[in-house]
Amino acid sequence: MTVSIWQADGTQPIREVDVLIVGAGIIGVTAAYFFKQAGREVVITEMRDLALGASSRNAGFLITGLDTYYHHAIEKYGHAVVRELWNLSLQTHGYWRQFIKQSNGAVLTETCGSLLLAESEEEARELEIAARTMQQDKLEVEFLTSDPLNRGYCAAIRQSWDGAVHPYQLVRAIYEQSGAELIANNEVYAITQPDQHSVTVATRQYIFKARTVLLCTNAYSCNLDPYFVGKVIPTRAQVLATAPLKESLLDCCGYSDYGYMYYRMTFDNRLLIGGARHHHRDLENDTMDDRISDPVQRSLERYLRERFPEAADAPIDRRWAGIMGFSVDGIPLVGTLPDKPRVGFAVGLTGHGLATGAVTAERAVELLLNGTSPGALDARRLG
Ligand SMILES: Cc1cc2nc3c(=O)[nH]c(=O)nc-3n(C[C@H](O)[C@H](O)[C@H](O)COP(=O)(O)OP(=O)(O)OC[C@H]3O[C@@H](n4cnc5c(N)ncnc54)[C@H](O)[C@@H]3O)c2cc1C
Repeated sequence: MTVSIWQADGTQPIREVDVLIVGAGIIGVTAAYFFKQAGREVVITEMRDLALGASSRNAGFLITGLDTYYHHAIEKYGHAVVRELWNLSLQTHGYWRQFIKQSNGAVLTETCGSLLLAESEEEARELEIAARTMQQDKLEVEFLTSDPLNRGYCAAIRQSWDGAVHPYQLVRAIYEQSGAELIANNEVYAITQPDQHSVTVATRQYIFKARTVLLCTNAYSCNLDPYFVGKVIPTRAQVLATAPLKESLLDCCGYSDYGYMYYRMTFDNRLLIGGARHHHRDLENDTMDDRISDPVQRSLERYLRERFPEAADAPIDRRWAGIMGFSVDGIPLVGTLPDKPRVGFAVGLTGHGLATGAVTAERAVELLLNGTSPGALDARRLG
């Protein structure tokens, strides 16, 4: 989205606020909750409406873990960082469970477990090494040498404590529990920090004067500040969902092909399949979630026919896209803008916001309130 000089001509009312959060996805509303817990007054400004970015377009997998197989993550980030990220993921799920419990039944969820499945013998060997490395770290995962689904996979890792959620309901519940004010249809288009004490944020409806600003704009962050260029890479993901089926074809969240394919039954018994962007990378470096692309959707349909032939003739009721924000090294980014120290950010969730999001938001809030180091999420690692 862009804003013309006619839509916001500089005569918008000035509004003084304590904390201004930009973006009402799951990270924005969770950060709002933590700020409110610390006694701060919070306004969230959102260019669309609650959760209409990736946070209500995802698959709703509550999977503990990282963006890559455990042993590869150790090679890439080092053992200590991987342990920290794993704990952060466990803590994040603890927070989601707390929000869900406090919602009194308003959020559909189930602890159905997850299966990370191998599409090939080579991937099976990778899974075995990943599982053994996790077991050495006392993580209670189960390695299965054959396909528990009987659908032609070669091996699997089961994490029985993982689950699935209705992602839109989860964001709504967190927002309601946050007590923050949301201003929808209010795009931010310029941020300046004129002095040490306040930030000026120009939006379509208001010019905010804020003490503290937190950007929770994930994939869209580059549009707001050049600092994010080359650090947060917008990446589109697509999904399809069948009409409700007579029988459930899966009793857990499944994913495979190094995480590029994922599938689950929804709470109303639809088969949801997402992914396949690795076959069409040139089409998916996009910031548009208002369209799908035929080649990716054909790949998803082919996968459905091959692995779930019972649903091959089921009508496809819905197809959609969402934009993920991949951090350049795969770990979320928490920090403050180098030239605007009162503007913090919690972005780069790398397709795993439900795995790492709550603690990412919490660390950004603690950095802004107390100067606490965000640990492995510290964006200064990228220079
Ligand atoms: C198809 C798909 C499947 C996925 N599946 C899973 C999954 O199963 N499990 C999992 O853990 N993760 C999954 N993810 C990733 C997950 O959805 C994201 O990591 C998470 O939603 C990121 O949350 P967010 O709040 O940072 O971003 P978003 O939800 O995208 O929120 C950012 C918000 O900022 C707003 N915004 C941007 N710019 C401005 C501006 N200038 N002014 C005002 N507002 C602005 C946007 O409108 C948006 O609402 C998936 C993603 C997709 C797309």
